[in-house]
Amino acid sequence: MADPLVEFDGVDKFFGKTHVLKNVDLAIEEREVVVVIGPSGSGKSTLLRCVNRLEEIRSGDIRLDGQSVLEADVNEVRQRIGMVFQSFNLFPHKSALGNVALAPKKIRGLPEDAAEDRARELLDRVGLSDQTGSYPEALSGGQQQRVAIARALAMDPTVMLFDEVTSALDPELVGEVLDVIEGLADDGMTMVLVTHEMGFAREVGDRIVLMADGRVVEVTDSEAFFERPETERGRQFLSRLL
Ligand code: ADP
Ligand code: MG
Repeated sequence: MADPLVEFDGVDKFFGKTHVLKNVDLAIEEREVVVVIGPSGSGKSTLLRCVNRLEEIRSGDIRLDGQSVLEADVNEVRQRIGMVFQSFNLFPHKSALGNVALAPKKIRGLPEDAAEDRARELLDRVGLSDQTGSYPEALSGGQQQRVAIARALAMDPTVMLFDEVTSALDPELVGEVLDVIEGLADDGMTMVLVTHEMGFAREVGDRIVLMADGRVVEVTDSEAFFERPETERGRQFLSRLL
């Protein structure tokens, strides 16, 4: 069998003396959509941030396509991993098009025309072909987040990581962002998502990873997880949602 696309192998992470990831093993296959759930403070964001080395791990290894990210050039690793956060962090003085075209121009050295053509394609893919010239302040939260997704896609990442990307949005704007993510799943993008949207997790996720207190406590196919979780922690987590 091929290597998993992303693999956590005995990962330990500390913040000072606080042990926040405890011997985490997790393998994510190509084209898989893995949804990470769990209580606040359980280590979900840290798990994602370790993959592109926004956080340093104490021990263990994280491999991308079979290669340790710890040994690779950090900029190369970050180019291969698209990450979208709760806060959109768009460049305020650039249009939607400018935001999406920037990294391909600056980092890849793509000519302006080619970078902008590609940016237009990506903005079209996230449903914003009519907003290419708009500046972030003129866009709704849902539109800004979709620009942020297009920007992350612009470097042709191998895997996309989403950390609670709809948590800061007004409820009526959540759906348009989830629709974009679902479209990426349909196109076969490998994704790891932290989300509180359980309906979405069930529908779009292939597997659910439940974290508690820095550990992965359950990994179950998503349909099965919501029907009958395998662990007591899983049952507790679901019962609190009701
Ligand atoms: P989650 O995303 O599941 O809410 P986090 O990964 O953000 O959890 O946090 C896991 C633990 O690590 C928490 O106890 C949190 O307080 C701690 N933590 C997160 N970031 C930092 C940091 N930069 N410095 C110190 N502790 C942190
Ligand atoms: Mg978090």
